[in-house]
Amino acid sequence: MKARIWGCRGSLATPGEQTVRYGGNTTCLEVRAASGKVLVLDAGTGVRDLGRSLAGERIRELDLLLTHLHLDHIEGLGFLAALFDPDCTVRIYGPRPDGGSLADKIAGYLSPPYFPVPFEQFDASISFVELERDTWELDGLTITAAPVRHRGPTLAYRIAEGDRSLAFIPDNEPGLEPESGLELAAGADVLLHDAQYSDEEYAARVGWGHTGTSHLIRYLDDARPARAVMVHHDPAHDGETLETLLRKARDGSSCPVELGREGLVIDLPPS
Ligand SMILES: [Zn+2]
Ligand SMILES: [Zn+2]
Repeated sequence: MKARIWGCRGSLATPGEQTVRYGGNTTCLEVRAASGKVLVLDAGTGVRDLGRSLAGERIRELDLLLTHLHLDHIEGLGFLAALFDPDCTVRIYGPRPDGGSLADKIAGYLSPPYFPVPFEQFDASISFVELERDTWELDGLTITAAPVRHRGPTLAYRIAEGDRSLAFIPDNEPGLEPESGLELAAGADVLLHDAQYSDEEYAARVGWGHTGTSHLIRYLDDARPARAVMVHHDPAHDGETLETLLRKARDGSSCPVELGREGLVIDLPPS
């Protein structure tokens, strides 16, 4: 299995000189199985470029796993090329909303007045799968979804192929619930985890649903992934600020830690 980051900014797309080093597109991760199966995790603004790339490869079947419906995780969805291709099939998975259905929430967002094209006019064959705590098999992958601590219904995912595994937990607040998502993160080959705040920022934003550096360090010590990738970078954090946070995380954690950046490829060959 192979993964590629197409966006790892949190909250708001943040283009410009300040964010060139790690990227300004919001959250989107491509995972590709040995079978060729393509999963897309989250549909932030990064999904637009991913969609163009997949269209170029004539990939016509996509499984899109949304962690939740905050705009930074869906704002690229209306620009995903596959949705406008009648030959494409897109299955959209996401958490069961508190009220209404996942389909209604997505269709409402991708319709006037928020979006120019009514959802019924998208050309692809689109279906929805609501998840809570689920595990299923898909073309050689085992996918597990579980709720995590954030504002509103929110999932994280673990994707396993053979004995290799990747956990994706972009929005999580272990400061309020240290065990949140640990069932997915524990022992993963790679863990991509929320690293939005410095400790000072977190102290002013307790309950906003994200992770400060010291809580990240403690979380990594509990989860013990073989490799940790900091994601969901705050819009206010330029490259230098992110590298300062990275140094602190590396000093405190016994896990190898790195910063997520657009274009980062994570290779997990069969062991
Ligand atoms: Zn987010
Ligand atoms: Zn969120």
